[in-house]
Amino acid sequence: MYIDSHCHINFPELAARMPEILARMAENKVSHALCVSVDLPEFPSVLALAEQYPHIYASVGVHPDYEDTPEPTVAQLVELADHPKVIAIGETGLDYYRLEGDLEWQRERFRTHIRASRETRKPLIIHTRSASEDTIRIMREEGAGTDKGGVAGVMHCFTESLEVAEAAIGMGFYISFSGIVTFKSAKDLQAVAKALPLDRILIETDSPYLAPVPFRGKMNEPGYVAHVAEYLATLKDVPLREIADRTTENFFNLFKAART
Ligand SMILES: [Zn+2]
Ligand SMILES: [Zn+2]
Repeated sequence: MYIDSHCHINFPELAARMPEILARMAENKVSHALCVSVDLPEFPSVLALAEQYPHIYASVGVHPDYEDTPEPTVAQLVELADHPKVIAIGETGLDYYRLEGDLEWQRERFRTHIRASRETRKPLIIHTRSASEDTIRIMREEGAGTDKGGVAGVMHCFTESLEVAEAAIGMGFYISFSGIVTFKSAKDLQAVAKALPLDRILIETDSPYLAPVPFRGKMNEPGYVAHVAEYLATLKDVPLREIADRTTENFFNLFKAART
């Protein structure tokens, strides 16, 4: 069995095809999926899916790429996270690739999420792009990670260096690989995935984006996370079963609220 640790199946293009998406998950042995929130107005659609389907979980947070959206407060995130199916805070983080100019608001928003994670004891889902230095710095300043008495989390859709991965792992974080790792052009990322220990790795689709080979360029969906696992098994030269078991175990070790 596999778990898609990060997807956006509440987005209209996927939500409209839910029966088909759930059928493909079953067919590809994808037992669970974590539907990740990107803003507060759409959070109810994320929660509704988690309430409707026992094997779908939810997170609450506001994505760093969403500029014109209501800004969350710590209290608001804490309140919305107070639900048995909300197992994480995010996605949050920094993205200096998609947006330019004074991005202090992104850093403030990121701090808000880390504080909410510490208060709720629910793990962080961190998105970082072209901003790894500030991401790690703010994580340290706000006491994210188990080494500072905070809560761990996952660096999702990881595309950074081994150094950044190791810094996050040092703080008790997991590293999640998406379909990007299967792309021919992703040689550096493949080297990172090869080097990381199996007990720190998660797999995800980030669907509807970033479909893995052999579906690259098509609309992605949680069932395709099996292809990320297959790729990692070949890359790391371990049996596919081991990738499946270890990433599933890692998911439940990190997201403890998903166990009950
Ligand atoms: Zn992301
Ligand atoms: Zn995402």
